[in-house]
Amino acid sequence: MADTTGKRCDGTTPLRQGEGIEPFADTLARHGLSLARDRVHTLQVNTGYLCNLRCRHCHHEAGPGRNEIMSRATMEAVVSFARRFPFQAVDVTGGAPELVPDLPFLVDGLAPLVPRLILRTNLSAVSGAEWESLLALCVAHRVVLVASFPSTNPSQADAQRGAGTTETAIAVLKRLNAAGYGVEGTRLELDLVSNPVGSFLPMPHDSAERKFRHDLLRKWGVAFNRQHTFANVPLGRFRDWLLRTENNERYMKTLTDAFNPSAVEGLMCRTLLSVSWDGCLYDCDFNLAADRPVAGRKIHVSDVRDLPSPGAPIAIGEYCYACTAGSGFT
Ligand code: SF4
Repeated sequence: MADTTGKRCDGTTPLRQGEGIEPFADTLARHGLSLARDRVHTLQVNTGYLCNLRCRHCHHEAGPGRNEIMSRATMEAVVSFARRFPFQAVDVTGGAPELVPDLPFLVDGLAPLVPRLILRTNLSAVSGAEWESLLALCVAHRVVLVASFPSTNPSQADAQRGAGTTETAIAVLKRLNAAGYGVEGTRLELDLVSNPVGSFLPMPHDSAERKFRHDLLRKWGVAFNRQHTFANVPLGRFRDWLLRTENNERYMKTLTDAFNPSAVEGLMCRTLLSVSWDGCLYDCDFNLAADRPVAGRKIHVSDVRDLPSPGAPIAIGEYCYACTAGSGFT
């Protein structure tokens, strides 16, 4: 029987029909390119979709109502996986990882195994004694903190993340600076990540970082190490918003027009593997959001005997255009 829902068998909705989008694979081929794996050196761990916020740009539709979070048993399997393979970095993300009860167990387990352990934070998920104890753990393991901070204009940032979030974030950034994070000579790295607050491309990296550094210092006396700006990925809540506001077609055209062939070589999916909250492997966090596992079938980290070899294929979709727009998502 014909599928009348417009969905693919993997559950995703094709973007091409009626939207005039050239399939990503065709664009790559037109430029004489393909997307295949290089040597894997980074493991991204998604601890689940529970979050205190409901950001408009979230490709996972994370929020307070989500109950998918990484269990202790899955954390044990992830730590054992990281012990079996020589990753150079592990990047712990969510949702809000701070809300996952056994996060300290995961951090304690991973920190001795990799030169660089990264923890994403939205700067507002926990507070008080809970935050102080997490901060002490991060300082002890020299965890790199990557904090979401979409804009130095509070009304724009609050529009993306929720009323009052900028004020909370600034207070936490000040506390992080006081603990040594983002301060030269401490070796405690604090990076910021920002996504545009609408359906447009981010400003070029160098000018964005310059602006954030200047504004944060002048307005609030806050310092940080590096800033990353990424295009919003048309998946999850952001894609729903694009469709609801009839911005999808225009946004996809913006992304495809900005396709940068030289960004393909450095795409993160060439060197990264992503583990879902329930322990399965994906080529990247966006393929996790689109429910497209590595090699088309769900494999649990406990069952992985080898990492994908250089040259192995990567699952791609039209959302990949967000990674190749402008300077790219690397
Ligand atoms: S969404 Fe980005 S990171 Fe993921 S497969 Fe596509 S290009 Fe690679």
